[in-house]
Amino acid sequence: MEFLKRSAIALSLITLALGTQAQVEKPSDNPAADLPQLGNTGTLVTSLEEEYTLGKQIVRQFRGQAPLVSDPLVIDYMNSLAFYILRHSEVEDRRITLLVFDLPVINAFAAPGGIIGMYSGMIQFMENEGQIASILAHEFAHLSQRHYARNVEYNASRTWRNLLLGLGSVLVAVSSSGDTGIAALTAAASTIAADRLSFSRENEREADQIGSQTLINAKIDPDHVAQAFEQMQKANNDAPPEYLLTHPLPTSRVNEARLRARQSESFPARDDLGFQIIRARLQLASSGPQAKRDGLFANWRELSPNSNRYAAAYARALLLAELGEAEEARRLIRWVRKRVPDRISVLYAEAEVEVLLNKPERALALLKSALDRNPRNLPLLWLNARAHKIAEDATAALRTLELMAHIDPTQIHVWYQLAELHGLAGNIAQVHKSRAEFFYLTGRDQQALDHLEYALELARHNFTEAERIRERMQEISGEGGVRRRRGG
Ligand SMILES: [Zn+2]
Repeated sequence: MEFLKRSAIALSLITLALGTQAQVEKPSDNPAADLPQLGNTGTLVTSLEEEYTLGKQIVRQFRGQAPLVSDPLVIDYMNSLAFYILRHSEVEDRRITLLVFDLPVINAFAAPGGIIGMYSGMIQFMENEGQIASILAHEFAHLSQRHYARNVEYNASRTWRNLLLGLGSVLVAVSSSGDTGIAALTAAASTIAADRLSFSRENEREADQIGSQTLINAKIDPDHVAQAFEQMQKANNDAPPEYLLTHPLPTSRVNEARLRARQSESFPARDDLGFQIIRARLQLASSGPQAKRDGLFANWRELSPNSNRYAAAYARALLLAELGEAEEARRLIRWVRKRVPDRISVLYAEAEVEVLLNKPERALALLKSALDRNPRNLPLLWLNARAHKIAEDATAALRTLELMAHIDPTQIHVWYQLAELHGLAGNIAQVHKSRAEFFYLTGRDQQALDHLEYALELARHNFTEAERIRERMQEISGEGGVRRRRGG
């Protein structure tokens, strides 16, 4: 009953989202008229440049509509892995955006404009780095082969804009469902997504084949493709993973992947600790308080191989720190550090333990040496800002966050914190400017412009600053295509 009600809400949200967009986009009466003809020349309906421009807009909508993972180590790890795979793929336009959704869904997708969506549920469900790499390689192959633009459905019955926006609204439905029934709702939403996102069997086979080759180029054993498929089949008890709705998995796909792997040269196993650590971090973040009390990662000693054991001890240390068990938490994280001394994610955790124990000075001391060696490392900077904030040094926290915004201006969590800290410090104009960036990045252009308007008002006696704000307003209204509100 509850499920049906939620589905109805989801569907109406989807209609709503599409309806709203239709007003902005003002589509012509004949959707096909927007698109150039698909002739015999093999020209695709959209150019990569067009897709990229729209993709940027879609990315902002995704950010505004679905919860994103905020753990900087997870983002950093997934970006490094994705860009490593990308370099060995056939993707021509390398301006990709990886979005890591904080949702317990076993799914991943590629969308035109270089968008890769990865769900935290998928990362948690895979067993090793090679498996998650094989999912990325497969999705990149959909991009490099431009399967969207080649899709008959995509060309004939819907404009590609609607297809993409439909995808965004599915996420609206998922993210507005709250905690209860999220799985059921997600399944319903995913069925709709499956319809919008599915490719032909030939497309899937091609993506498998090219994905395997990408792994070989990247010196990753292509058998991970088959392993990832098998892992997904294991989840198939109540309902299949969402990924299988858009990627139906006949035995032939598994067999073919295995055959390709057998014909390939062999590669040494990869160091897997980075993956095991972020997987443990996600697991820790997604488990409720009850599960935590029940001794999550308590059996870390019994685990093998080592990367698993270290990752479990690592997560256990963070959990103990959260519970205030200072001595045991410190002992455990130092045990890990001794065995893997040079890894940033481990240095990070040692300082994080101190943050969790409410000892920001200790954390800052640990971070200092790590930051001296890696002054532009985003996760280290993020934790540094957090420690300064706990130490009630807003100025130092602001300085760090400003540097982060400069290094990567697309991190919404950084702008959110900047707005908050500027508020505490009484910098009202800066509050508005930071909020403007946050709203812009999450697709709410009108709110972004409103905040810049307030900032402009406050900067009226400062010519240079006013000019800067006006420029930013022009960029935002130009790019997003937002029409300024007329009259009151
Ligand atoms: Zn696929």
